Amino acid sequence: MSPTTQPSAAIRSCVACRRRAPRAELLRTVADQAGRLRVDVMQRAPGRGAYLCAEARCFQAACQRGALARGLRRRLVPVTATDFRRVAGETVRATAEQAVRQGLEDGRVRRGEGVGTVVIVDDRLSRRLQQWAEQVRRLEAEAVEDPKRADGSSETEVRHS
Ligand SMILES: [Zn+2]
Repeated sequence: MSPTTQPSAAIRSCVACRRRAPRAELLRTVADQAGRLRVDVMQRAPGRGAYLCAEARCFQAACQRGALARGLRRRLVPVTATDFRRVAGETVRATAEQAVRQGLEDGRVRRGEGVGTVVIVDDRLSRRLQQWAEQVRRLEAEAVEDPKRADGSSETEVRHS
């Protein structure tokens, strides 16, 4: 693997809506040997990855239209957008919690004055935790559009201005 100095500065595009954004802003998805999707929060897993916005509509579009399978160039174990989004949120949350625990050990995080509060001393970790918190918030927000509308009309096209 070649040394990468500024991986977070790289631009990637969401496989669902094609929005281009700094890589750290998007979720990197990878598939394991069995074709099960998972979120590579640290964005370091080897192999091909596909990037996705932390948005319900992008999960919906990507799962419905096979954008992830195309992006990852492989057959995937089917998963509903809702399930994958829930697992993605849990994965990001668990990674953030782990990073805080790790930070308490190596001094990048220290205990705050209030019970259970912490102070992030390290700027880079602080930015990262903010980004993860924002992703979790978006992932856990209810899907805005339901593609199966009660009147039978379909409006599955996802457009971003
Ligand atoms: Zn997107």
